Amino acid sequence: MVHLPTPLEMQASARYSDSAQVGGYLRALAAAAGELATAVSLGRSAGGRDLPALLCGFADAGRVAPGKLRVMLVGSIHGASEAAGCEALLGLARDALLGDRRDWLDTFELVIVPNANPDGRDSDSWRNGNAANINRDFVLLEQPESQALDAAVRRWAPAVVLDAHEQAVLKRKTLGAAGYLTAFEAQFDVASLPAIPEPLRQFASATLLPQLIADTQARGLPAQRYIGEIKSLAQPVTHGDLTARTFRNKAGLRGALAVLLETPMEPKAGQYATFRDIGSRVEKQRLCMEVFLDCVRDHASAIAAAQALAAQEPDDREFPLNARYWRDPADATLTLPLRERANGMRIEATFADHRAVAAHDLLRPTAGYYITDHTERFAALLTRHGLAFETLAEPIERAVISGVYAGGDEPATACVLREERHHIHAIPAGALRVAPSGRDRRLLPLLLDPRSASSVFRYAAYARLLVPGEASFIARAA
Ligand SMILES: [Zn+2]
Repeated sequence: MVHLPTPLEMQASARYSDSAQVGGYLRALAAAAGELATAVSLGRSAGGRDLPALLCGFADAGRVAPGKLRVMLVGSIHGASEAAGCEALLGLARDALLGDRRDWLDTFELVIVPNANPDGRDSDSWRNGNAANINRDFVLLEQPESQALDAAVRRWAPAVVLDAHEQAVLKRKTLGAAGYLTAFEAQFDVASLPAIPEPLRQFASATLLPQLIADTQARGLPAQRYIGEIKSLAQPVTHGDLTARTFRNKAGLRGALAVLLETPMEPKAGQYATFRDIGSRVEKQRLCMEVFLDCVRDHASAIAAAQALAAQEPDDREFPLNARYWRDPADATLTLPLRERANGMRIEATFADHRAVAAHDLLRPTAGYYITDHTERFAALLTRHGLAFETLAEPIERAVISGVYAGGDEPATACVLREERHHIHAIPAGALRVAPSGRDRRLLPLLLDPRSASSVFRYAAYARLLVPGEASFIARAA
């Protein structure tokens, strides 16, 4: 059997590999695997580093082969701070192409993006070369890495996406300062944005997620649904972010069944022989990724069915722009294990349970939007999201609905809707007309409607474009 040791294996887990080693290894794998694999580039990072990907088992990049399921696996979006996902994906790719997991390619076409943040990886950081958190940039898409990942999801249209993270158990400034560490071994979550079609969200949370947790536990690793970061004993607990800012929610909105994985990372000041215990971290990630692929394979036909059902939803069906966590019943609690920082002793802590989700701000998608001001800026934004638009050559009159917003520099208050005006609007030449179809009929209002917590107006640079007391420069067709 061909065996191509990963850079981490070559270094006997003494330290994690750098971006040049990762790129070199993917090219070596592609060369060894022949027509089974192709090494490609998704573009360049903020710091000019290559963003490599490996396509495994593809017959035709433009079309998923009949009977196959396309799965995208993304590692280390938070750079060196969460280095294990990348290493685990290198081993996984090797075993799928040349090793003892070649059976995966009977079911899957894999898009493997092991090193989603090469700048962070090479500079001991979780941010990219612009000091940005890539995994909060999927609304603005200002960073080359988030642009590349979003474009990869559009281009290859994976049915399933895995976003692999790690989480430090010691939060030095918050829970750690109070004397506690979090205690978990593996956490999974699914895309939770309320605008994701119901059949997909339902299948993800009611079927796939419990199965992933059960299968991981069956392999000996305690697992649970992802609990948002715990910073205080007095805080309520929820799950993850409910906006399109994160990769997993954005991929979900684009039609993928998107899954988050988090495994823990012990404090730096440990007794570990290796660099922050990278060897055992990689083993944990690898086990969870195997469980994930096996579980997805077991449910391949159910996943295809849920996606077909989601695709059948009428384009104009009402959907929620927003959701929030709340406590239901009013006295609900959740008990979670923690460890005492001083001696590692496990304790149990009880938190207010705010994991119930209430969707709100319902909107019925309309045929189109008109953007009459700041057109250059919005043309660039639409282009980044792959949303088609036209620039009006002649003025037109249309029945539209325009919102009047509170305005101001503070996004949360600027986006408060004062009134909606139904009127006939004289739309000047040079205005942008956007007529989205399919999934884009939800993506567009999420990005452009200031009421949406996923809108660009939730960022100060856009919030201040809303003029108090005036109808917004973005109107939707009535
Ligand atoms: Zn992360």
